[in-house]
Amino acid sequence: MKRCVDQVLKWYLENRRDLPWRVDTDPYHIWISEVMLQQTRIESVIDYYLRFLKEVPTIFVLATIDDEKLLKLWEGLGYYSRARNLKKTASIIVSKYAGIFPTTYAELITLPGIGDYTASAISSICFQEKKATVDGNVLRVYTRFFGDYSNISDLKVRRRIAGELEAILPKESGIFNQALMEIGEVVCIPKGVPNCLLCPLNEYCISSKKCIYLELPVKNLKKDKKIVEYTVLIFKCDDQYAIQKRKNKGLLHQLWQFPNLEGTYTSKQIEDYLIKKHIVYRSVKKFTESTHVFTHQKWKMISYYIEIDHFLTDSSFVFKSLDIIRNDYAIPTAFQPFLRDLSFV
Ligand code: SF4
Repeated sequence: MKRCVDQVLKWYLENRRDLPWRVDTDPYHIWISEVMLQQTRIESVIDYYLRFLKEVPTIFVLATIDDEKLLKLWEGLGYYSRARNLKKTASIIVSKYAGIFPTTYAELITLPGIGDYTASAISSICFQEKKATVDGNVLRVYTRFFGDYSNISDLKVRRRIAGELEAILPKESGIFNQALMEIGEVVCIPKGVPNCLLCPLNEYCISSKKCIYLELPVKNLKKDKKIVEYTVLIFKCDDQYAIQKRKNKGLLHQLWQFPNLEGTYTSKQIEDYLIKKHIVYRSVKKFTESTHVFTHQKWKMISYYIEIDHFLTDSSFVFKSLDIIRNDYAIPTAFQPFLRDLSFV
């Protein structure tokens, strides 16, 4: 691969896609984009990134941002601990480093939410430190190039690959890292036949010569996700809808949701439940169904639209209009289909 370094750099400078975080190498910009890009597709991140920088243009603003506003800006991106860690890290950088981003991998890796990959990305892209960024794209390109059948789910294998890449990084380490990731995104694609004829690694690539690219990389099969069923209750009173804040801990903590019960209830069971809770209702109608997939579980959700004449006395609920819910409350993606369909009621 060392023999291909110059071709890879040249290819990247001529072929890279125009993306908003590639306009400069300001570490604040690179950090925000790298955190957003974890587990999220590039096309989905672009609008979030632009809106986030408009509202939160500097690390000083991020350090003091209101939590609700931060979660609202993150709404739909998922993995909300990423947003919380951004704020924690921003306050540390402001208080400990006077707002100036640390420049080395060793300092960056100590900050909340900055793991090996992000520390390597910031230190190499912004400060040319020789650290390899090893994500799924790079692992695919690397194992195909070398015809390497090692299991990339094994941490030891990923560490070995990172070490081998670091040994060949040129002084433009950040550009080389970005180039390998870009090759993995657009040429050596994860599904289907790679575009070897367009690849700057083609001359020496073992997979291309032996046509074994579809066998690589080797990784563990994904386990089946746990299925959890929920019944969502859409309480409507005076053109306002009940929402509540999720608990302080656990999945989607402190975000807002429509009230719900674990399990799948029939309309008769929901009516019994309302009577037991002394909730006087006018009607109970079957409403939207939805499935939401998380990393380790899948939620199968049904819902009921329940008209009531009086606000619920339980203080954990607030009643708000649809516009206010949409504009001011961070509603996770799992509950968005219900919010969307309320516009058509
Ligand atoms: S030559 Fe083909 S298989 Fe090899 S790295 Fe490039 S796109 Fe992937």
